[in-house]
Amino acid sequence: MLPDAVLARIRDDMLDWRGTGFSILETSQWDTGLVETFQQVEADLRALLAVPNEFAVLFLHGGASNQFAMVPMNLLRGGTATYLHTGMWSGKAIADARRLGQVHIAASTARHGFRRAPRPDEVCWDDRASYAHYTPLETAHGVQFGFLPQAGELPLVADASSALFAVPLDISRFGLVYASTQKNIGVVGMTLVLLRRDLIGHAALRTPAAFDYAVHERTSSRFTTPPVFCWYVTGLMLDWIKQQGGVEEVFRSCRHRAETVYAALDRSGFYTTPVEPSSRAVTSVSFALADSALTDAFVADAAKTGLHGLRGHPSVGGLRASLYVGMPDQGAHALAEFLADFEARHG
Ligand code: PMP
Repeated sequence: MLPDAVLARIRDDMLDWRGTGFSILETSQWDTGLVETFQQVEADLRALLAVPNEFAVLFLHGGASNQFAMVPMNLLRGGTATYLHTGMWSGKAIADARRLGQVHIAASTARHGFRRAPRPDEVCWDDRASYAHYTPLETAHGVQFGFLPQAGELPLVADASSALFAVPLDISRFGLVYASTQKNIGVVGMTLVLLRRDLIGHAALRTPAAFDYAVHERTSSRFTTPPVFCWYVTGLMLDWIKQQGGVEEVFRSCRHRAETVYAALDRSGFYTTPVEPSSRAVTSVSFALADSALTDAFVADAAKTGLHGLRGHPSVGGLRASLYVGMPDQGAHALAEFLADFEARHG
C-alpha cells in the first residue's frame, strides 16, 4: 500500500506538477526542479538510513532481480561468492550468481523447509570469497533474520527489498545493500543500490555499460533516462516517513502491525504459521488455514471486507499478509478482526 497522503500528492502532481502546468509524467530528467527533487531524495535517504559518505547511492531501473546478476557481474572479480540460502528469493540470487561464477553455500535452511533463519553458529562463509550475500527478509517464505551475519573482512551484500525501512539495518556494516522500491518506499520500476565506493570499478571485462555500477555512479544514475516517476514517488515516501517521526517510528509501527496479526493467528489452531516465532517476518506474514479446503472461501470473504492480496506467493502457496511501510495500523487491526470473524463462522 501507499499512504493516502502520498497518493493524494501523486494525484495533484499528475495534472500539474508544482505549478509548472505539466504532469510529473511529462517532466524532463533535466528539469531544474526535478534535478533538485532528485538531490533531495538522495539527501533524505542518506539522512534517514545514516548512509555513510563512502557509499554511493544508485537509483536504477528494474527490479531487485536485476541485482541478482549485477552483484556478481561487478563484485565477483573472477572468484567465488558465498551465499546464505534461506528461501525463494535467495535461491534465485544464487541461481544467477552460478551463471556467472563459483558459488559457495554458507548455510541453507532448505531441509527445514525454509521455516527459520539459520542460527549464527550454522553460518560458515568461505572467507576467500569475493563477497557474502544474504536476504534479511525472505518475502515469499516470511522469514526474517534476527541478527546481522558477521562476515569478517568480506563485503556483506544484502537483498533488503522487503526489509529496508521496515527493520533496522546498520548500512555501515554492509558492502552493498539493494532493494526494489515497490515494497516499502514507492512503486514498481526502480531499485536502490547503496554500495561502498571501493567496490565500484571492478566489473568483469565483458560487462555491458548498463550493468556496470561504475557507469551508474559516474552518470549519477542517468546513464539511461532514469525512472523519473519511481524516483519522485520514493521522494514522497521519504517525506511521509519524516512526517511520521522518522525511521524509528516506522520500525515501531511495522512491529506493531506484525504483532497484531501474529497474535490473531496464534489464538487457536484454526490458523497455522509455518515460520518459527524467532524468525517471523514483520512485513510478510506467512500463514495457512488448518483446513486448507477453506482457503478459497477465506480469500473471497476477505476481499469483500476490503482485505486484498492474501494469497501466498504462487511458488510457496498458503496465505500471507503484506504489511509494508505504507500500510496503516488500521489495516492490521482489520485483518485481525477478520481472522477472528472468519474463524467464528467456520471454526
Ligand atoms: N528479493 C526479495 C526479497 C523480494 O521480495 C523480491 C520481490 N518481491 C525480489 C527480490 C524481486 O524483486 P523484483 O520483483 O523487484 O525483481
